[in-house]
Amino acid sequence: MDRIYLCLAHMSGKEQQYIQEAFDTNWVVPLGPNVNAFESDLATFVNCSDSAVKTKEVVALSAGTAAIHLGLIMLGVDKGDEVICQSFTFAASANPVVYQGATPVFVDSEVGTYNMDPQLLEEAIKDRIAKTGKKPKAIIPVYLYGMPARIDEIMEIAHRYEIPVLEDAAEGFGSRYKGQVCGTFGEYGVMSFNGNKMITTSGGGALICPNEEAKKRVMFYATQAREPFPYYQHEKIGYNYRMSNICAGIGRGQMTVADEHVKHHQWVHQQYVEKLGGIDGIIVHSAPASEMESNYWLSTIRFEDDKHTIEGNLLSFIDALSTAGIETRPLWKPMHAQPVYKDAPAYTNGVSERMFSCGLCLPSGPYVKEEEIDYIVKSIKAHL
Ligand SMILES: *Cc1c(COP(=O)(O)O)cnc(C)c1O
Repeated sequence: MDRIYLCLAHMSGKEQQYIQEAFDTNWVVPLGPNVNAFESDLATFVNCSDSAVKTKEVVALSAGTAAIHLGLIMLGVDKGDEVICQSFTFAASANPVVYQGATPVFVDSEVGTYNMDPQLLEEAIKDRIAKTGKKPKAIIPVYLYGMPARIDEIMEIAHRYEIPVLEDAAEGFGSRYKGQVCGTFGEYGVMSFNGNKMITTSGGGALICPNEEAKKRVMFYATQAREPFPYYQHEKIGYNYRMSNICAGIGRGQMTVADEHVKHHQWVHQQYVEKLGGIDGIIVHSAPASEMESNYWLSTIRFEDDKHTIEGNLLSFIDALSTAGIETRPLWKPMHAQPVYKDAPAYTNGVSERMFSCGLCLPSGPYVKEEEIDYIVKSIKAHL
């Protein structure tokens, strides 16, 4: 059996046809028909929910990280500002805050979703206002491993304090909360098409925008902030963040199998629930409520004993599975525990540190079939 990876890119077969079109028509540039069509596919995808949201616009960009950065710029985040960010996440959620000269304020997770704890969020907002005399400029909740956050509660708090929300849905492509696509609740939403995400453009991302005007402004910043003059006139600092017409061709192909990908990841999760769920001391992380529809980008488990921890033997457990040809990985190390963010304010409750210590990501991608799952389950049991 081949090595089993967490999540490998998987092509529909149509990608090369769109790339060929780009070459045939000489659109080998960071704009063109594939970019427009991919954006239109993405807009249809995010607006198709049962909810009232039908008017989101999408801009295709070079990376999810670029999308977070531009989202912050659109929300006016600047030097000296504070931005509240979920601590339990990948560094790319927080780093763009620092690009803007602002300070991330980390908020811990709640155990049901692994995502931002709404109660702690409100405590953090109150405390920042008390300590700095200023409201945080934005809130960045994350959809970790695809799991919907408690977004209704987060949005209610955000509205009450009038702080805009930038959703990091990089891992939550196709996840839904009460039928509405994750990434469409806040002012802006972020998608990622990196090689290991739900769909890929080899590398890329997108920003979900509230309207056409915001989309135009995002495109302006993403293409070097060139003013409408006959010569190159610049009044703002811009970026080279647009997606290329080649990458967008891959994206168009991927959109033809996006729903299939999501269904497969969900099926893999169900398999783990059935086959690992009965084992004492192992919990397969699952949506805590029926209104949360996770894409299960990565299925994760956590150990309840105190042996399988980072401080204990979790890393040698990972090595043993790797020797057996199975790629697994600890959960994200929380940002407030990262050396680079040791001075950032943090509101913690122990949840993300505990999950980081005892959690494991399991192979979940398009190439993981029933035979592989049975082998993974057998190997986990053998090494317990
Ligand atoms: C992957 C990821 C990003 C960044 O996306 P890129 O396209 O790799 O830049 C941001 N946030 C989270 C939570 C991610 O997993």
